[in-house]
Amino acid sequence: MKSIKDIDKKYIMNTYNRYDLEIVEGMGVNAYDVEGKEYIDLSAGIGVNSLGFCEMGWVASVTAQLCKLNHVSNLFYSQPDALLAKSLCERTGYEKVFFANSGAEANEGAIKLARKYSFDKYGEGRAKIITLVNSFHGRTMATLTATGQDVFHNYFFPFVEGFDYVEAGNLKAIEDLVAKGGVCAIMMELVQGEGGVIPLDKDFVNGVRKICVENDVLLIVDEVQTGVGRTGKFLAQEHFGIKADITTLAKGLGGGLPIGAVLAAAKCSDTLGFGMHGTTFGGNPIVCAGANYVLARIDEDFLYEAKQKGEYLQEKLAEIDGIEQVSGLGLMIGFKVKDYTSSDFVKEGIKRGLIMLTAKQKVRLLPPLTITYNEIDKALTIIKSMV
Ligand SMILES: *Cc1c(COP(=O)(O)O)cnc(C)c1O
Repeated sequence: MKSIKDIDKKYIMNTYNRYDLEIVEGMGVNAYDVEGKEYIDLSAGIGVNSLGFCEMGWVASVTAQLCKLNHVSNLFYSQPDALLAKSLCERTGYEKVFFANSGAEANEGAIKLARKYSFDKYGEGRAKIITLVNSFHGRTMATLTATGQDVFHNYFFPFVEGFDYVEAGNLKAIEDLVAKGGVCAIMMELVQGEGGVIPLDKDFVNGVRKICVENDVLLIVDEVQTGVGRTGKFLAQEHFGIKADITTLAKGLGGGLPIGAVLAAAKCSDTLGFGMHGTTFGGNPIVCAGANYVLARIDEDFLYEAKQKGEYLQEKLAEIDGIEQVSGLGLMIGFKVKDYTSSDFVKEGIKRGLIMLTAKQKVRLLPPLTITYNEIDKALTIIKSMV
């Protein structure tokens, strides 16, 4: 029989350059390969498994829902999505939620919402969205266009119209673009994730917020990676003292199940009406049961712990000779390693039983938020042995 790696290579489109590792099961922070070798996972499926692999309570909630009601269309009411929307709004102060299935889809919804809001008030011709250079917003046509990196703007022409890019920190450029007119929204990550784990400057973020308020331009904050406790606050916005008009969530929200969410403030929570947006799978009961469990777990104490652990890990990394440019917020961390490309370092880590991620030239860590100090220390020992 052919190996899974061979079958994968033959039958799955080669859009991912996979590491030489087949994971067969996981528990908590540990993953296991075909030979039963154990790995410490500091990737959490790219920030998805917020409670680690197969956390018992999460599994129980999801399977209970699975045995009760697997799916209903959005033509009917059901409990899990209604309760999830309620908890999300209560946690964040937002007014209403739209459920999607991924980060890109959530951002796509946010873009549509912003354009509709502007159309309703100002008519056509005010549809431009400003995003930041080095951002990442997804792989659909609109979110790919929104992504402020030239490498993504290839092959798939024509891209979606109406996007402009500004360097993070350049408030003047944003002011000028908005003053020219035609702008309906500014969209940004507060810690650029794929771009290299780069937190934005607080004054810049507050400046953008101010420009938005003064010009009735909607601020969309993409918290697909930073949201749901990743940075040690429920939303990364809390670190910056702002609240966006629209916030998108995805990765960590379902604890390992595909979900995206668009959170809208009162100003624009009724902008999308019947039939204006939709998705077959959005708000699926099983997925929402998983997310409801994640939200119930991530209380203030949990967040405080995550923040402390993130600071500890960042401090310890910064002390290691050969590691530089440690950056991030909470348990979203990036760093450079002398004499290593990020991808070579990650490959070497896998050999030594440690799973990490890259973000451009940086090594990126997005461990489960439930990781213990003991597990952090074990991971640090492996990292130290590598540099
Ligand atoms: C991962 C990511 C996305 C895209 O999410 P998908 O679920 O892959 O569509 C969008 N924005 C940010 C900030 C992300 O990190």
